[in-house]
Amino acid sequence: MYKYIFSRVKNIIPKISETEIIALKSGGTSYDREIFKGAMDWNKLFKPIVKNEINLSTQMENKINELLGKLGSNPIYPNPNIKETMRWIGSNGFLSMIINKEYGGNRLTIEEQSNILTKISSYNPSLGVAIMVPNSLGPAELLQHYGTDEQKKYFLPKLANGTFIPCFGLTGPNNGSDAVGQIDEGIVVKSGDKIKIKVSLNKRYITLAPVSNLLGIAFKLNDPNKLLTNGRSGITLALIPSESNTLNKTYHNPNNAGFPNGTIKGTVDIDPEQVIGGPDKIGEGWKMLMECLAVGRGVSLPASANGSSKFITQSIRNYIQIRKQFGMEIGNMEAVREKFIDMYINTWIIHTSVKFTNHILDSGSTPSVLTAIMKQQTTERARSILNNGMDIYSGSGICIGENNFFTKFYNSAPIGITVEGSNTLTRGLIIFGQGLNKSHPYIFPIFQSIQDNNLNNFKENFNSLIIDFVKNYLRVLNPLASYNKDKSIERLEIATLKFSILSNFIAVIGGKIKSKQMISSNMADILSNIYLGYSLVWYNHHFSSKSNEFLTQESINYLMDELEYKMNLIISNYPITVFKPLLYPIKNNIKYANLENKNKLYKVILENKEFSNLFTNDIYYTNTVLEKMEKLLKMDKNSLEYKTLYQDIISVGEFKI
Ligand SMILES: Cc1cc2nc3c(=O)[nH]c(=O)nc-3n(C[C@H](O)[C@H](O)[C@H](O)COP(=O)(O)OP(=O)(O)OC[C@H]3O[C@@H](n4cnc5c(N)ncnc54)[C@H](O)[C@@H]3O)c2cc1C
Repeated sequence: MYKYIFSRVKNIIPKISETEIIALKSGGTSYDREIFKGAMDWNKLFKPIVKNEINLSTQMENKINELLGKLGSNPIYPNPNIKETMRWIGSNGFLSMIINKEYGGNRLTIEEQSNILTKISSYNPSLGVAIMVPNSLGPAELLQHYGTDEQKKYFLPKLANGTFIPCFGLTGPNNGSDAVGQIDEGIVVKSGDKIKIKVSLNKRYITLAPVSNLLGIAFKLNDPNKLLTNGRSGITLALIPSESNTLNKTYHNPNNAGFPNGTIKGTVDIDPEQVIGGPDKIGEGWKMLMECLAVGRGVSLPASANGSSKFITQSIRNYIQIRKQFGMEIGNMEAVREKFIDMYINTWIIHTSVKFTNHILDSGSTPSVLTAIMKQQTTERARSILNNGMDIYSGSGICIGENNFFTKFYNSAPIGITVEGSNTLTRGLIIFGQGLNKSHPYIFPIFQSIQDNNLNNFKENFNSLIIDFVKNYLRVLNPLASYNKDKSIERLEIATLKFSILSNFIAVIGGKIKSKQMISSNMADILSNIYLGYSLVWYNHHFSSKSNEFLTQESINYLMDELEYKMNLIISNYPITVFKPLLYPIKNNIKYANLENKNKLYKVILENKEFSNLFTNDIYYTNTVLEKMEKLLKMDKNSLEYKTLYQDIISVGEFKI
């Protein structure tokens, strides 16, 4: 029987390309494994932690204040002094957060990096981008992991102190999402008695390229005349020091967001020793990028989503108590309140998931599926917070002027959504597709056993899959099964169980799942919401207080409302008719949100100083309209002082015709 199943599975299992195999093998797993198994490991989730919700050190806090005070909140580019600005930023340690101390770097924890990027991005998103890029996937990260000793000793101290301003160029006109599809090529040639690599570069969208004097590049190396003794070829990463801007001559303007971004174009001869890691690392480029991406995408962009969301949500919290129409505060109007509660819940989801993910990464895990979830979910939810906030701030949010705090965030939001794996692709292909292969406890071992033609391993993993599946299925059907007594956590537990069952049914679709992206996108949302749900539970357990318990419950219910609908959507559209009836018992009885709870939550949010402090501590708002609103809320409403400041707050930019 097993032989028969073995050959059937062999037929449905998707063909996986070399680049996909590398992506699958890069990074590890974490709580995503438990979610695919159908049950959270509560002991692991509730294991006491060293509280990582630290405030930044006073020294760092002072440095950030100095940086933001000096550069203000305006876009940093185009600007004739940009090179000096970048050098100043570097000489003050802001570009060395991931560089080890032995090379002159600061080497901060993930939590510290995240806190710093949150604060900077909350005030000046263009500066946030310029600082986050050298501190995530780029020359410094790659050199630390793969550089030769000589390369590390030469480049890292100069990257740490801002002598070198790095950028990293992968994308070109024909290789966007398909990053290595039609990538630039380099040919090995003989130049006198030396071997050189002639690389033709045509790259676009490269952040920091216009100000960079150390270009990291990715290209495909070909050695048609077999000049290299090690016989290597393929995707390769190299460094080109470039003081003279000969390759980086033009810049783009991404939505007026105001950070340096541009092109790298031209033909250049490089020495094989300029390859990161030396000639032995030729052809390893994709693997190197994938391994580093597993951590990077879970930190910087979620931190900037955290910064913008907290600034906007706290500002709107104040604004709706201040702004009056029809003789009352607009926060008293339920239509406004509904949007605001949506913003608050999403901000809380971003806050708790950032803290949880930082904790996971600081514990040494590199869970690539969870970091993909974080990148996609936080940037997407931050955009929805912006949209709701802008609707509430209305005319003041649309017109440019001193009191408009929206435009800078609004212009930046699509950038986080597009870079480091565009969200549509991440949601449609990566999160659930990789999850199924990587986080699922048995599918990759089954795939591997088929590749190796190993019937015994196949049998073992196939049996375990069936046993787990039957156990989960029986549990979900058992009306007496016991779950957590908190109703919202009970929903989360049942969703986890059902997700696990459903993902096995989806796995039967086999390789066709790659084209059934509407199914895998919605499965990605379900998986993501479950992860975000456990982030809320984790946060509430470790940093609990009475009030955040209610906010936590409402946030979990919000995620479950989204998820239960999507689960039913998938079951209704499940394409294999013979199995479809088996899915009916796990369909959800849709529960409807209790609207009165939104009113209750509104009261809690306004009364609770703890939330306000939590939000304002994490952001920078000196000399902003938020600072004015915080001040106004403490004043006597009948005083002249109040009336004057109120007029100032509601004023909108005016320009001479
Ligand atoms: C401001 C900015 C900064 C950037 N910085 C850098 C940088 O520093 N270095 C660098 O190398 N690159 C950088 N990029 C490039 C960025 O990574 C790419 O823009 C991104 O990979 C998407 O490529 P594309 O814009 O060509 O879109 P396309 O690849 O043309 O995609 C178009 C749409 O199709 C979707 N799509 C494509 N393939 C699939 C699929 N298989 N399944 C489902 N959906 C799919 C995408 O999600 C997207 O919605 C930057 C881009 C921008 C805009």
